[in-house]
Amino acid sequence: VKFKELGISDLTIRALSDMGFEEPTPIQEQAIPILLAGKDLVGQAQTGTGKTAAFGIPLLENIGKSVGATFGIVLTPTRELCIQVAEELNKLGQFSNVRTLPIYGGQDIQRQIKSLQRKPQIIVATPGRLMDHMDRRTIKLNDIKMVVMDEGDEMLNMGFIEDIEKILSATPDSRQTLLFSATMPRQIQNLAQRFLKDPALISI
Ligand code: AMP
Repeated sequence: VKFKELGISDLTIRALSDMGFEEPTPIQEQAIPILLAGKDLVGQAQTGTGKTAAFGIPLLENIGKSVGATFGIVLTPTRELCIQVAEELNKLGQFSNVRTLPIYGGQDIQRQIKSLQRKPQIIVATPGRLMDHMDRRTIKLNDIKMVVMDEGDEMLNMGFIEDIEKILSATPDSRQTLLFSATMPRQIQNLAQRFLKDPALISI
């Protein structure tokens, strides 16, 4: 299977070949059509499977012509993953003019506020710092169309579940919601049950 056969636009295909991605990995092949169709998804997948592009490509494609507001949010457990995911999304979006901003704890908050004012289409954030911006009203989530939770079990282990629930509750019910996790403990299953609508399940 080729990326083109999955219904991906030429600009993203160009970025993919620029990145040296010639063919989709199994999780990309399975997840991309489901996500382009707008469905929610629970993905049980480890790091190294290509899960970042599996949600990153549909994020970019689904943005389409929607402009002016932040379209999607990706939640990550750590600053390192936050930076890494934002870098990959920026590469994937390099020809389609989609800007992704990483927001994590420990970074200068005033600088983050300035960057947020430039309205990035995608924000990748650690939950604690995103909550901080919600409390300060320096971020608005009422136009968000897509939310991705990456490494859900790690976010659970780090005590972020309450923050995640608050963040999800602040986004529109009409959003598309994705949950990736290497393991599926009860609390992660509960989270999926409460916040995802009839999700497709992929296990790699
Ligand atoms: P991830 O699981 O998203 O952390 O990705 C693992 C590694 O595989 C990263 O270095 C990606 O850049 C790379 N990768 C992801 N998708 C592909 C692909 N379709 N072809 C080649 N490399 C890929």
